[in-house]
Amino acid sequence: MPEFLRLLAAVQQSHLENLCEANKQHVRCQKCLEFGHWTYECTGKRKYLHRPSRTAELKKALKEKENRLLLQQRESGRERERETST
Ligand SMILES: [Zn+2]
Repeated sequence: MPEFLRLLAAVQQSHLENLCEANKQHVRCQKCLEFGHWTYECTGKRKYLHRPSRTAELKKALKEKENRLLLQQRESGRERERETST
């Protein structure tokens, strides 16, 4: 293989490696949930995703219901305002 071709191959190789390294910055490990490495490269400990508990879900649902009611009250209040002003 001519020298320049070997050089070109080496440059392309390192360029590809650089690209891979750059891409890795956006990679998220599914094991420890850290950025910058792949799951199979992980040296960290497995983290567990905190899923909202049933009570938390219920609270959230209640809060949404509350918000919707408040919004409705505000809407009907506006309606009443309009009625009294005319
Ligand atoms: Zn990891």
